[in-house]
Amino acid sequence: MSAQDTEDVERPATLGYHDWAAAVREGRLLGQACEECGHVSGVPSGACQECGARDLTTVELPTEGTVYSETTINVPPEQFEERGYQVAVVDLGDARGMVRIEGDHVDIGDEVALSGVIDTDDDHPAPTFEPAE
Ligand SMILES: [Zn+2]
Repeated sequence: MSAQDTEDVERPATLGYHDWAAAVREGRLLGQACEECGHVSGVPSGACQECGARDLTTVELPTEGTVYSETTINVPPEQFEERGYQVAVVDLGDARGMVRIEGDHVDIGDEVALSGVIDTDDDHPAPTFEPAE
């Protein structure tokens, strides 16, 4: 602890899944930046995915990004009614996150923007993105 510690409910020092999920429902994306190697993760985790350090800082991620890879899921999980939907790994600033794509099909390199959230009964909201204007 240090004098610089402030209580910040918007960006909790330790990002838990529920904090992340609550932010997604508000249309915000939170990630974690590693104090050791600088790696930024788009999903909450107890330790850096790159170096294993536990000194992580909660950061706000941009809600617009660039498609890094994409695939179409033809056999969706049971809670999704429609068949055939696209998911993409999107570069969000320094982070990379897996999102659901709505609207038009996107290709690698396309710009996309946060469009909403799919909420499921099991408390696992998923951010949705659509092609950016
Ligand atoms: Zn690290």
